[in-house]
Amino acid sequence: MPGPRRSAVVAAPLPVGGLLNWSGSAHFSKTARPCWHCGAPTHLRDNNDRPADKVCAERALADVLQVVAAHSEQGRL
Ligand SMILES: [Zn+2]
Repeated sequence: MPGPRRSAVVAAPLPVGGLLNWSGSAHFSKTARPCWHCGAPTHLRDNNDRPADKVCAERALADVLQVVAAHSEQGRL
């Protein structure tokens, strides 16, 4: 017999500017380096000072959130 059913995770609309706010100067470097997600040159840096495109970082974050949601729905978290 299956356990109690959990409510589905409802995704809220994304903010227009994306999930991450990288408007601060700490997220910009004069030196382009390969994005650690896709390898394309970028001037942007993530919170750990790694070169990363904002869209790539947001995609990776969304992937992690989907995994967490899936495991949560399965009662693994
Ligand atoms: Zn990238």
